[in-house]
Amino acid sequence: MAEKDSPILVWFRLDLRLDDNPALCRAVESGKPVVPVFIWSPEDDGNWPPGGASRWWLHHSLASLAGSLPQRGSRLIFRVGSAAGILDDLVRETGASAVYWNRRYEPDLVNRDARIKKMLRGQNVEVMSHNGNLLFEPHATRNKAGGPFKVFSPFWKHCSQREVGDPFTIGDRRIPSPAKWPGSVRLEDLSLLPTVDWAAEFPAWWTPGESEARRRLDDFLSGPVGDYSEERNYPARDGVSRLSPHLHFGEIGPRRLFAGAQGKLKRARSGSGRAGISKFLAEVGWREFAHHLLYHYPDTSENPLRPEFSRFPWRRDRASLTAWRKGETGYPIVDAGMRQLWRTGWMHNRVRMIAGSFLVKDLLLPWREGARWFWDTLVDADLASNTLGWQWVAGCGADAAPYFRVFNPVLQGKKFDVDGDYIRQWIPELKELPGKWIHCPWDAPKDVLDAAGILPGKTYPTPIIDHHEARLRALRAFETIKKL
Ligand SMILES: Cc1cc2nc3c(=O)[nH]c(=O)nc-3n(C[C@H](O)[C@H](O)[C@H](O)COP(=O)(O)OP(=O)(O)OC[C@H]3O[C@@H](n4cnc5c(N)ncnc54)[C@H](O)[C@@H]3O)c2cc1C
Repeated sequence: MAEKDSPILVWFRLDLRLDDNPALCRAVESGKPVVPVFIWSPEDDGNWPPGGASRWWLHHSLASLAGSLPQRGSRLIFRVGSAAGILDDLVRETGASAVYWNRRYEPDLVNRDARIKKMLRGQNVEVMSHNGNLLFEPHATRNKAGGPFKVFSPFWKHCSQREVGDPFTIGDRRIPSPAKWPGSVRLEDLSLLPTVDWAAEFPAWWTPGESEARRRLDDFLSGPVGDYSEERNYPARDGVSRLSPHLHFGEIGPRRLFAGAQGKLKRARSGSGRAGISKFLAEVGWREFAHHLLYHYPDTSENPLRPEFSRFPWRRDRASLTAWRKGETGYPIVDAGMRQLWRTGWMHNRVRMIAGSFLVKDLLLPWREGARWFWDTLVDADLASNTLGWQWVAGCGADAAPYFRVFNPVLQGKKFDVDGDYIRQWIPELKELPGKWIHCPWDAPKDVLDAAGILPGKTYPTPIIDHHEARLRALRAFETIKKL
């Protein structure tokens, strides 16, 4: 095969889009034939293969990508197996002279990709990896002393002084195809969809894929972002972007998001509008910070960043863990969040913090139990952000909430779900309860409960633990690791 006819394999991973995809863009610019490939290789992910909700999303996101490629004269090849073996096969089958991909930063995958690079280069195959998933790559971001950042504010200040490149684009160009396509299994052969009907409600909430990601960003930037600083705290309101699964699967790139937000920032007239956009970008900064931390502290998905927490006296209590997972703790704001998670694959950030705090502080159960459950049930499950979120909640991570600050689920509910709308949406058993009692049904007089059709312990659980006692127990547990 003449050098100019030998294809470039573009290995799609968490970058399931055509726009702002540097690996694809560079391959198309070369003028050579391009073979887009997706490899389902969950065993390559070590302890964290994609969970159930992520697989559901992945299936539909791949269907969307595979559906858009033919409009460019191309197609998506699916394979199943270890990525190294499959790429080796594909290079032989297609005579590919190069493999391009966008980098991932999870520790197991950094190591895997380094091995694959070595293998391919040993076969004289050109390998080019690109930054498609972050604004600022972890290995290129260092503090003044040359080390990684551990505190968000200086991290983001440092990042904000750097240039973000323009999004990559192939415009409406066709993607050159090879003379002969390699074989592909069907998307269905990846068996990503759940066999039980647990995800039945997901399609009512989500449409995976690049065009929906772009629509969601545009909608958010043309309205809600202006009030984001305030509205982002209220789970019953439409104050956040819900872009997290789209960002996780790379259906939209952070450069495109940044360019959109910057454009909006320039046009924003009011101070509060500008503040909303800056706050939104700072939250995207937390995503960057999460990747920075996991990259530089690669064992934090398993172990606390603060070593003293490895001695923390966590409890084992299957019944409480089950009640938490099912949203049956008897604390309405916690239960509403856990039910939203189960039914939609997503939970509002404020409630993630409250429900997470309840698990690790009130129930004294290990943060990794929470991280595991979120991993399986979140459509945006992301190793870096989930690890950061749980270590933040447990007080054992970088720039984390101090352990001694224990969220009171009743006060948090009253403050951020003032009228109880969020609770009523997810806990229909409490629907008829007046706002005065909705955050603490156990305090409601019997006639109020009767009128609302609530039988404590029967139609809705009584609290599985007393928050005030639990708080004191958590503080005592914390003292033990401080003393050692
Ligand atoms: C215990 C816990 C676990 C979490 N697990 C995950 C996870 O697995 N995947 C995930 O994407 N986020 C996780 N988060 C962070 C946050 O809750 C979600 O990113 C956010 O709720 C997504 O909703 P949104 O897209 O509407 O966010 P918006 O408020 O619209 O923010 C825009 C984007 O910024 C990023 N972002 C916002 N807040 C954070 C944050 N605190 N940390 C990292 N990135 C952030 C997300 O990519 C988000 O899509 C977790 C938080 C906690 C407390």
